[in-house]
Amino acid sequence: MSYIPNILFAILLFVGIGFFSRNVKKLIRNIKLGKDVDRSDNPSERWKNMINIALGQSKMVRRPVSGLLHLVVYIGFIIINIEVLEIIIDGLLGTHRVFSIAGGLYDFLIGSFEILAFLVLISVIIFWIRRILLRIPRFWNKEMTSWPKNDALNILYFEMVLMSLFLIMNAADYSLQQMGAIHYVNAGSFPVSQYIAVLLPQNELVLFYIERGAWWIHITGIFIFLNYLYYSKHLHILLAFPNTWYANLNVQGKIDNLQSVTDEVKMMMDPDADPYAAPEESNNSDLPEKFGASDVTDLSWVQLMNAYTCTECGRCTSVCPASQTGKELSPRAIMMKTRDRLEEVSKIIDDTSVEAFREEGDNKSLLTTISNEEIWACTSCNACVTECPVNIDPLSIIIDLRRYLVMEKSSAPQELNMMMTNIENNGAPWQYNQMDRLNWKDE
Ligand code: SF4
Ligand code: SF4
Repeated sequence: MSYIPNILFAILLFVGIGFFSRNVKKLIRNIKLGKDVDRSDNPSERWKNMINIALGQSKMVRRPVSGLLHLVVYIGFIIINIEVLEIIIDGLLGTHRVFSIAGGLYDFLIGSFEILAFLVLISVIIFWIRRILLRIPRFWNKEMTSWPKNDALNILYFEMVLMSLFLIMNAADYSLQQMGAIHYVNAGSFPVSQYIAVLLPQNELVLFYIERGAWWIHITGIFIFLNYLYYSKHLHILLAFPNTWYANLNVQGKIDNLQSVTDEVKMMMDPDADPYAAPEESNNSDLPEKFGASDVTDLSWVQLMNAYTCTECGRCTSVCPASQTGKELSPRAIMMKTRDRLEEVSKIIDDTSVEAFREEGDNKSLLTTISNEEIWACTSCNACVTECPVNIDPLSIIIDLRRYLVMEKSSAPQELNMMMTNIENNGAPWQYNQMDRLNWKDE
């Protein structure tokens, strides 16, 4: 009979970890739908980026208020979860505060966790006030309705509940220790929860139920949170690390060229080339199957990982000149639409297979939701890339969509089509024959 809580806990642990592993597998499968790209160069700079940007949050603190609050929540949440290890061991073995054998160190740790939990709680409440009462504009853009808005709030409520439960659990435990209740070893220091303890009923049985209730709901909440991550923008807690490691290290503004196009342009620019010569026979397998990207499977795996990593913070959109001047474009929306489409494809693949999707598709694409107006409003200024706290590159997706529209569909704005036709025919963007280039000097 006394083993029932241990068995229930083992089942909870198994189900929680089992679902999480399934989600991780699905995430990796979806990211691998992207095309291969080599990002293994310069590992020392990559490690440096990851440590500075993902671990050190260096880009977050550029906006000091939200940066500092985020840092508190991040550090607090990670460190407090060290206690989860103790909860798991206690849950499986039926012990209570198993790490208390560490003596003074344990007291110090529990005391620090409490202070951090309190700071996290305060920070999360400030985040909620900023979002709901102060209505910071970037949280209220048109793409931040329904699920994205609820998701952001859900996580704030989750954190509030988890931190409160942690403190209530400790408060009841503290009172039980004071009463000398059986099983409640005298361990830990409680700089915050001792003040909550005075608010609780001083009855041993009631305190026992409060402590056990908070303990069970706290650990169940952590498992729910873990499995909620896959469906939430909070996946960045995990993906910020690989995302910053695999980020593009090229100088901003350098756009990768398609080799086949590079060869063609070189030939055009070569004064010794014979423009009437028959093209060299080429191996068809060398040609790209499609220029640019119209769907998520045409993007690279790094771009797909970017989409899953996006925190939907809107910092990119708040500095985007196109968005600022009232254009349809929002780089955050580009990332969100890419992730939504990837999830749509993922569901189809769940029911069929990757091969079946690649062959048959579903008559939809990224261009079903990303409009031409968005794609062509971009000035390719890179402000979004600079501003992103986790080194996401929305511009690269916009460029690939443009490439598809231009090279596969000849569907660019009229002015660009004219310019490109002129370059093709005249070797210059103007409507003059190459032979007439120097006519100006005779006028
Ligand atoms: S690169 Fe394009 S999307 Fe990014 S900030 Fe500049 S205009 Fe906006
Ligand atoms: S792309 Fe970066 S800056 Fe833009 S919303 Fe996502 S995480 Fe924030």
